[in-house]
Amino acid sequence: MQTITTVAELRRALVNFRKADKRVGFVPTMGYLHDGHLALVEASRTQCDVTVVSIFVNPTQFGPSEDLSTYPRDFLRDEKLCRDAGVAIVFAPDAQEVYPAQFETFVEPGELAKPLCGAFRPGHFHGVATVVCKLFNIVQPDVAFFGQKDFQQCAVVRRMAIDLNLPLEIVTVPTVREPDGLAMSSRNRYLGERERQRALAISRGLFAAADEFQSGERNVERLIAIAKRHLETVDRLQYLELVDGDTLKRAETPLRRPAALCAAAYIGSTRLIDNVILAWPTP
Ligand code: AMP
Repeated sequence: MQTITTVAELRRALVNFRKADKRVGFVPTMGYLHDGHLALVEASRTQCDVTVVSIFVNPTQFGPSEDLSTYPRDFLRDEKLCRDAGVAIVFAPDAQEVYPAQFETFVEPGELAKPLCGAFRPGHFHGVATVVCKLFNIVQPDVAFFGQKDFQQCAVVRRMAIDLNLPLEIVTVPTVREPDGLAMSSRNRYLGERERQRALAISRGLFAAADEFQSGERNVERLIAIAKRHLETVDRLQYLELVDGDTLKRAETPLRRPAALCAAAYIGSTRLIDNVILAWPTP
């Protein structure tokens, strides 16, 4: 495995793979890797010949009062996890490499970036779309892998790839959870033991609603109310919304199309997000 920190060096390293007609898989991350990230790596390993993982805590997707400076980092551990998982290249640029002086060109996502997290994190998806677009241009992968855990991010990135004619395939990988249901997240490390217990309300609420959906409930308000009963115990519920799986607009009763029940909640000072997809089994 190679660890590379500059765009020029990465391009040189990738030339040989391309000459050999290797299918390049790409997993963008902010590091502090867990089994969720490793599921993306595994999907890439299965579908591609070589896997590139980027580790970059992207400053442009953090708001001024968010956790950019304290975001958990452990590069040596990440490198080892990547090596053990069969990653070919770890790309770990610094902020200067990605955003050199005088950088001023951004990608501006549209309607998909407005609800849910977009409503509470102004500029977040503007930063996400910009860095993902840059990373796609730098790595030029055949396939890029994203986690369903960040459902809105997947929607924004897919839309961007279509709108900007980016020549790659986007694969969404299901959310990896702890055995008790908590969605894995680098930010889980902020949680104390009791907070960790309280955080379970999020996945419990989402699962309770998903169970009712499986039992035939199609009323949007009722599905939200079922989840809310569990989510009442979080310290602050930022949003709990049932949205159309494609447009991310509020889903309509009766549900007739795949939808996503999405939540963002604070446990202490830690903001966590999670979602479940409410969909019909494919025949
Ligand atoms: P992050 O490092 O949090 O920016 O995440 C990098 C990628 O890993 C994104 O595509 C996330 O959606 C994905 N990811 C994060 N947590 C999980 C999880 N629990 N299960 C699956 N994918 C995840």
